[in-house]
Amino acid sequence: MLAYCPNCWAEITGTPTICRKCGTGVDVYSHEYEHRLIALLGSSDATKRAQICLVLGEREKRSSVSHLLALIATDPDPLVRVAALRALSQIGDISVVPAIAKIAVTDSPPVRSIAKQVLSSLGAHGAKRR
Ligand SMILES: [Zn+2]
Repeated sequence: MLAYCPNCWAEITGTPTICRKCGTGVDVYSHEYEHRLIALLGSSDATKRAQICLVLGEREKRSSVSHLLALIATDPDPLVRVAALRALSQIGDISVVPAIAKIAVTDSPPVRSIAKQVLSSLGAHGAKRR
């Protein structure tokens, strides 16, 4: 599972319970870990926000859906919006379809095309209709 230390942001490999770099306890399966990740979505570092999206996508938890939806609607960085879209696709909750359909017409062209891919992967038939 893809994971990062919530303290120093070193990539966590394998399934350690402690960060090899800074010694912070990391239980990637805990709710606390997920809460720390979500809190870090407020980071000013766009790369970090995009990485968190990837991690949340891999975890496939519906609890992160509302946070990812907030990102696709408001994040200033298109890379972060794309990462959030891909995470939502991975989570596969079809309740996000209306929000993504909106992005598919209002966002910049590269983000729009990802949004359309996500819609079709979520099984939103007719999403490609113009
Ligand atoms: Zn660390």
